[in-house]
Amino acid sequence: MPDVHALLSASSSKQWLHCPPSVRLQEGFPNESSVYAEEGTFAHEVCEYKVRKYLHERVKRPQSEEFYTEEIDQITDVYAEFVISIIEQMKRNGIEPLVLVEERVDYSHIAPSGFGTADMLIIGKDDDGKGLLHICDFKTGQGVFVDADHNSQMMLYALGGLAAYGYIYEIEIVRMSIIQPRLDNISTFECSREELEAWGESIKPIAKLAFEGKGEQHPGEWCRFCRAKPVCRACADEALALCREEFLDLDTGAFSEGNETEESDLTAPYQADIDTPVFKQPGLIPLTELAAILPTLNRISSWIESVFAYVSAEAINHAVPVPGYKVVEGRSKRIFTDPKAVVDVAVQNGYTDLYKQQLISLTEFEKMMGKKRFAELLGEYVAKPPGKLALVPENDPRPPVDLGSAPDQEFAVLAEQEE
Ligand code: SF4
Repeated sequence: MPDVHALLSASSSKQWLHCPPSVRLQEGFPNESSVYAEEGTFAHEVCEYKVRKYLHERVKRPQSEEFYTEEIDQITDVYAEFVISIIEQMKRNGIEPLVLVEERVDYSHIAPSGFGTADMLIIGKDDDGKGLLHICDFKTGQGVFVDADHNSQMMLYALGGLAAYGYIYEIEIVRMSIIQPRLDNISTFECSREELEAWGESIKPIAKLAFEGKGEQHPGEWCRFCRAKPVCRACADEALALCREEFLDLDTGAFSEGNETEESDLTAPYQADIDTPVFKQPGLIPLTELAAILPTLNRISSWIESVFAYVSAEAINHAVPVPGYKVVEGRSKRIFTDPKAVVDVAVQNGYTDLYKQQLISLTEFEKMMGKKRFAELLGEYVAKPPGKLALVPENDPRPPVDLGSAPDQEFAVLAEQEE
């Protein structure tokens, strides 16, 4: 995948559509890669390899000692199988689709200088014989569920695809799929070409504002990847105001000026303190109320994390002094500096059993035997244990667990309580 990103990138479109000045505000902050991003890039390369191989193109299998795992093989299989099934379905309908892998699309007619790389464009016809553009996007994330429904990233890619290839098969329908195997999420959104183009027209003024760095700052869940977040005043004001509004009763005047406490007179008769901040509901907060503030807490904790990360990086990476803080070394574990020498010395001194033997992985077995033989010989010994239970928002596509029949699992925090 190319490294270049447009200022108004499709992947950050949710951010700039909600907070137009953010793209310019974050310009001075480095776009640092993370290990997750690097793993994602590798996984995309594997996806590309698998689809190109299916298309009988000459390709080299991507290699990575760091990121290649059995699990990467599995999730990229899910993507490749999904994409191939779309192509095969069109072929069964007598259509020879145009298949474009890792295709650069240009949507600069909507957002100034806008372009991006779509994982997959398939242009053909749907089962009813209507011209169809199907866009597929692979996601490796497992933290946040990504919905295809009115997903602005996909819609921008689609607009770019239409601009370049809209004449082929006279496209009438646009279908956009997100394949996020780590969350068992394959989500598809479909709309007519007219709807998509109307949406494109509707966002043109916002895109122009964003490109010019104008408009209102507007904090929300799209702040998640904004590089200006740790120093964004709007974000800080909002997070602190949310804390105050959710937990404290402002009617008591807790944050009004002139609240200085007088020196206490121990002989004075007791008087109720009406100036100190109090919880809206004295005593304990019911679960229903806690549930109502969960989305807010997510936003606040994400903001707090970003502030800590930013200030820590300034102090540790750039030696910027942080008043009241210092940089120290954390705990570390002992390691062998020369494993070969360790083995030599241990053997010379009569020690044995220095190595552990391990069963090869399920995927390695499958590769060694082939899928069919593997299923015949070992299929009955393969099981997929249930995943760890998690509390997620209602719009997550996974079906709810029947807790009556689910295996015993307690949320981890409970285990840390006093024994
Ligand atoms: S952190 Fe949020 S509110 Fe602040 S500039 Fe970024 S997107 Fe806008």
